[in-house]
Amino acid sequence: MKIIVLSISAYKEKDAIVNAISEDESITFLARGIKDPKSKNASLNNILTVADIELMDGDFKYPILKGSKPLLTSLKIGMDAEYLASLMLIDEMLLNLFPEEERNMMFPYLEKALENLKTTNDWMMTLLIFMAQVIRLGGFQLEVNRCVICGSKRKIVAFSFIDGGFICQNCFNEEIIHDLNTNQMLLLREVVNSDDYHLKSSDYLLDDVKTLFIKFIQFIEEAFGYHFKNLRLLSL
Ligand SMILES: [Zn+2]
Repeated sequence: MKIIVLSISAYKEKDAIVNAISEDESITFLARGIKDPKSKNASLNNILTVADIELMDGDFKYPILKGSKPLLTSLKIGMDAEYLASLMLIDEMLLNLFPEEERNMMFPYLEKALENLKTTNDWMMTLLIFMAQVIRLGGFQLEVNRCVICGSKRKIVAFSFIDGGFICQNCFNEEIIHDLNTNQMLLLREVVNSDDYHLKSSDYLLDDVKTLFIKFIQFIEEAFGYHFKNLRLLSL
C-alpha cells in the first residue's frame, strides 16, 4: 500500500507510532525500530516520505509494520531552510486543516507537490498551487473564471477574497475590497486553474508571487480558523 507519512511519535525505545495517509484512508501503525538510523525502514522516520508499506495484525491496538520500500524521500542533499520549512508547512496544513478521515483527499496533490518541491526547489510556486488545492478541497473554491456575483466573463475589474472571486464592472461597488492588481489576478487565475505543477515562479514578478502567497496564507487562516506556526523560516 502506498502511503505518505504525516507524523511520527516516539513510542518506546526505538519504536514509533506513524500516522500516514494512503489514497483511501488515514492509517496509524506501529513501526518497530525505525528510530534506529540503521533500520531498513528508517526512511519512514521522516515526515512526508512516500513509501510502499506492508502491515500485519499483531498483539497491539494498531497494525504493525512488516516491511517498507521508500518511493520518494523528502530528504535531499543541499536542503536549505526554506525547503525544510516548506515541508513543515505542507505537513502542518494536512494535519490541522482537515479532519483525519478527510486527509486522504489530498493524497494525489500532496504526492505531486512533494515531487515538484524536490525537483525544482521552487517552494513559492509549489506551495501556492498546493494551497489552492487545500482551499478548494476545504470547500472554499475561489471563482477565477467569471464574476462571482453575476457569472459574467466580461469586464472583470477586481478580485475579492471576502466575496470569493472575480468581480465584474457591473457588480463592482465601493464596498468591495480590491485585493489584487491585474497581474496578480492573472497569476491567481493560472494558479487556481492549474491541475499540475508546471507553473514557475520565475515566470512572474517576485513581488506578485509573494503578495499572492501572503494573501493565500491569510485567507486559509481566516477560512479554516487556524493560525500557522511554520512561517517564520520562509523569506516573505
Ligand atoms: Zn458581475
